[in-house]
Amino acid sequence: MAVQEQSIADKLKLLYRLQTIDSQIDEIEIFKGELPIEVRDLEDEIAGLQTRINRLQESINEIKKEANHHRSNIKDSEGLIQRYDKQLETVKNNREYDALTKEIEMQKLEIQLSEKKIGETQKNLVAKEEMLVQAQDVIKQKQAALDEKKVELEKIIEKTEKEEKELAKLSNDAKEHIEDRLLRAYQKIRVTYRNGLAVVPVRRNACGGCFNVIPPQVQLEIGQRKKIIACEHCGRVLVDDEIIIEVDAETLVK
Ligand SMILES: [Zn+2]
Repeated sequence: MAVQEQSIADKLKLLYRLQTIDSQIDEIEIFKGELPIEVRDLEDEIAGLQTRINRLQESINEIKKEANHHRSNIKDSEGLIQRYDKQLETVKNNREYDALTKEIEMQKLEIQLSEKKIGETQKNLVAKEEMLVQAQDVIKQKQAALDEKKVELEKIIEKTEKEEKELAKLSNDAKEHIEDRLLRAYQKIRVTYRNGLAVVPVRRNACGGCFNVIPPQVQLEIGQRKKIIACEHCGRVLVDDEIIIEVDAETLVK
């Protein structure tokens, strides 16, 4: 039906029909529950942990490099000491003797310093390696939880995929018959409320969305279908029971 030819009743029916389709889509989302969010959260967490593990590994490599550097310094010093010791055997005077023994002392101090630094790097290494093992443990647990949730989610998606696709198509088809201004309003209200309801019936003299009382005069106007009436409290479009019965009947026939 071309948009220009639609009566208010037609417009309300189209809107309500779209609402019933979209509500079914929402129901599937609820059925999936928190699983998609949980999967995404776990994936983020694992990515974060992996970054941490990479950093720890890098820093462990750095520490090992540093320790090796000190070890090679010690070797150099030991080499020098050996050389000086040999020179001492052929020393010609006291001055030379003093200079050599001083050098040897210096190199011994160098060795002590390097050993102390190696001790520090070892402590650091042990701490970092412990952290690495812990992080690897946690990531393993998270990965297992993620795998489990993914299987669960895939099972649900498998079950609902076809239905979701059909509903999405129905929803898109329904949208094509609704004028842009109304559709924009509908979509705006839909995302505003957690239950996704933008078109609601009047039930027991109250708005079916926010449950505030609808005055008799307004109810009368809704029934007359001369204009589209929104709840003054929540902004949802209000429809009378007739519309609902008609749309539900049409849906049943199809
Ligand atoms: Zn309301």
